[in-house]
Amino acid sequence: MSTKLSLATRRAPSMLGFADSLLRSEGAGLVALDVGFRFTFWNGAMERISGIRADEVMGRSAIDVFPFLGEQEEHLGRALAGETVAAQRRRYTAAGSEREGFLDGYFTPFFDEGGNIVGVVCVIHDLTAQKLAEEQLGETERRFQNMADAAPVLLWMSEPDGLCTFFNQSWLDFTGRTMEEEWGVGWAEGIHFEDFQKCMDTYFAAFNARRVFEMEYRLRRSDGNYRWILDRGTPRYTPDGTFAGYIGSCIDITDRKHMEGELRKAVRDRDDFLSIASHELRTPLTTLSLEIQSLKRALGKRAKVLAKNGRIERSAEVAENQINRLITLVEELLDVSRLASGRLRVEPTEFDLSDLVREVASRLKPSLDAAGCALSVEAHARAVGSWDRLRVEQVVANLVSNALKYGPGSPVEMSVTRETECACLKVRDHGIGIALADQRRIFQRFERAVPMSHYSGFGLGLWIAREIVAAHGGSIDVASELGSGSTFIVRLPLRAA
Ligand code: ADP
Repeated sequence: MSTKLSLATRRAPSMLGFADSLLRSEGAGLVALDVGFRFTFWNGAMERISGIRADEVMGRSAIDVFPFLGEQEEHLGRALAGETVAAQRRRYTAAGSEREGFLDGYFTPFFDEGGNIVGVVCVIHDLTAQKLAEEQLGETERRFQNMADAAPVLLWMSEPDGLCTFFNQSWLDFTGRTMEEEWGVGWAEGIHFEDFQKCMDTYFAAFNARRVFEMEYRLRRSDGNYRWILDRGTPRYTPDGTFAGYIGSCIDITDRKHMEGELRKAVRDRDDFLSIASHELRTPLTTLSLEIQSLKRALGKRAKVLAKNGRIERSAEVAENQINRLITLVEELLDVSRLASGRLRVEPTEFDLSDLVREVASRLKPSLDAAGCALSVEAHARAVGSWDRLRVEQVVANLVSNALKYGPGSPVEMSVTRETECACLKVRDHGIGIALADQRRIFQRFERAVPMSHYSGFGLGLWIAREIVAAHGGSIDVASELGSGSTFIVRLPLRAA
């Protein structure tokens, strides 16, 4: 261990030994130098710190062993002059072992019994391990910061008092605010006021119970729009188990929320549709079955009379009407599935729209008469184009059927005109009309502007008509006022699009 060499240390070996034993618990190094800065004492801790044995340094110059001592600050010289000098966080290399590191050194003059300075005593604290740990921590923090900033999610971190002290770059980019603005509870300014209370309640309840939490709220984006955020917070702990606050990650779920809403609406529409469809299909079937039962009963008793007085004919007519209604309904349903799967095919042939409208008008005349609707047709212009005849017929028939369904007892007017680039068909009724707010909606699938209890129907006819017209490159519109009737206007391009 320590080797006694000079006169000075020979006089005070017990003092250095005593100091050494005091420092042992701290693991501090203790060295003594004579006036020529040669080592006279070198304790066990110094051997561990420097990797050099005492017998290797005794009598050697301190500046040779620790070159930094020869640099600028002149610690040794000043100590020899009577000062107590500190060298803090100094980088050192130990010549001999080539060990490197950091140390704190305290240099004091060494007095003999007569009060004369006979050398320097130096206490050394090795900081190498501590510095390394600090560097590693710094590196870990830098790595975390880089990772956090590159993460596609918004991240935040709060302290044990609940205040937020970290937001990653994605968060700051999202809100368009600075770290200072978001700091503490500043971030909560961006929460939509309707979600604010619930959000705070969830956060603090979970925080106080140190529970993982999940909450959804609207957060203002830099463009001023509110976006739905799913925020998941987890308590964090230091390695010794002390609660250190929370870390949270957020994702933008606005699109997911919209999709969920759309899906829910689609399921609702489907359920509504199924109930309407079963009702619609059952009504004509019930009529049909009642009519046939009563006919059968009557036929069993007096067939000849019935044949004579026209009862059979009337029953057949009722049956035919109901069957036609069923066919129309089933056709509508088939069209929906064709349109949904993109299988609606248009097979164009050349024909005159005026001819077709006159034909449809005469075919539907009996129904119009039965509904008490006087029909007038103005279709003199030749409006020849290349369209799918059956499909266009379907559109016209649908509009006329609606005119008499929603305006029974009042006249229906049809006209065909030729415009520069298209043929224009108008179907006008004087029925219940359609409120402005409903006029766009009724062209959507399943959309209706009348109660089911008053008017039968699927809410599909106009949607199908619009799809057919669109497949021809044309358009369909409505002009109407509630209570004053409606005019549906179809335009079909004269040349194929
Ligand atoms: P449906 O008649 O089977 O309900 P449509 O798609 O043909 O389905 O029409 C959708 C809705 O548009 C109807 O429910 C009705 O509210 C409204 N509508 C259609 N045509 C007329 C019209 N001529 N007069 C008043 N309302 C109409």
